[in-house]
Amino acid sequence: MSLESNLSTILNNVRQSCEKVGRNHDEITIIGVTKYVTIERAQEAVDKGIKHLGENRLEGLLEKQQSLSEDPVWHFIGSLQSRKVKDLIDIVYMIHSLDRLSLAKEIHKRANQPIDCFVQVNTSGEESKHGLHPDDVHSFIEKLAPYTNVRVVGLMTMAPHVEDEATLRSTFSKLRMLKDEIMAKQLDYAPCSYLSMGMSNDYQIAIEEGATHIRIGTKLVGSK
Ligand SMILES: *Cc1c(COP(=O)(O)O)cnc(C)c1O
Repeated sequence: MSLESNLSTILNNVRQSCEKVGRNHDEITIIGVTKYVTIERAQEAVDKGIKHLGENRLEGLLEKQQSLSEDPVWHFIGSLQSRKVKDLIDIVYMIHSLDRLSLAKEIHKRANQPIDCFVQVNTSGEESKHGLHPDDVHSFIEKLAPYTNVRVVGLMTMAPHVEDEATLRSTFSKLRMLKDEIMAKQLDYAPCSYLSMGMSNDYQIAIEEGATHIRIGTKLVGSK
């Protein structure tokens, strides 16, 4: 499918899902995940008006960032090794995968101003998924207070690879409840008003459950 028709399908679906639950579609940021595709394909996405791009590897991000004619806004969505933070920090707009204190410490050290981060949570319980156990999120965020260059803008999760709608919904709604609890604490460094959740196969459900940032690769730019 052409990128244009993929995009129009996604925009329609986003609108529909928002309508269904009484949300405004302006609340949703679509992040085009370009990790599977070429620079040319990423360029095409930018040309079609996708302003937010996501990569899960530093190398992939740098390669595309250096080659694209216009500057998209970069989201880092993969697991991040501390030693790579210094090369990423001046380029990235949001980091979606904060999952440990040592990483927060490194971000704090390398950044010249607060960096918007999502704390990654494993709400599905799958062993293979990264992220904090839901029970550990409150204490983790409290421990971030000294790292003033880390700003917790929200929580991120990856749903399990299942079709079952009830399972997907409960994964997403768990993250939303956690987000609401943290937001209620009104911490200066953790406004925590965003939810990064929803990918190609589940973004409509994620939106119905409160997603503000959806990360779409396969169904937008394709998978190769
Ligand atoms: C690859 C990836 C995506 C996009 O997945 P698709 O199913 O291709 O839409 C989203 N989020 C993360 C963290 C990813 O690694």
